Amino acid sequence: MSLLPILRYPDARLHQVARPVGPIDDGIRQLINDMAETMYAAPGVGLAATQVDAHVRVIVIDVSEARDELRVFVNPELIKASGEAEREEGCLSVPDVYEKVRRPERVTVRALDANGEPFELEAEGLLAVCIQHEMDHLEGKVFVEKLSRLKQSRIRARLKKRERSPAPPESRRTVL
Ligand code: ZN
Repeated sequence: MSLLPILRYPDARLHQVARPVGPIDDGIRQLINDMAETMYAAPGVGLAATQVDAHVRVIVIDVSEARDELRVFVNPELIKASGEAEREEGCLSVPDVYEKVRRPERVTVRALDANGEPFELEAEGLLAVCIQHEMDHLEGKVFVEKLSRLKQSRIRARLKKRERSPAPPESRRTVL
């Protein structure tokens, strides 16, 4: 296993749309393992393949306190969404930026697991937010693009400044 470099916003490669995965072969299995290791090391609660410059429809998530409930979603599809909730989000590709985002509160997702077995999952709370956030990445979307133009330009300015003098990551917050 190895740690993969994470693309940083506003890298244009974050806007690439991921393609569906065919059969789950050794290459995909390797990618899943490397993505899990990268997510745990970051640390983050979710990671989309897009963020590590692999443009296939693969997501890994672990929202558990103990960090021992890895969930793998291959070719995820949202089949139901209801309600509305606002929650602060962060992103491994947008360091030190935390903003409130409004999304459906509950979702049902259909996907393949790491062995290629189909499953359906109903999610709410942080898991629902995380699934939607990571699925956006596969569509080439970054959460800050849901914010106002003014906020987006402030964020870009802040990231530029940070490049010159990097701050240590804040580990207490939720990074997706
Ligand atoms: Zn993200």
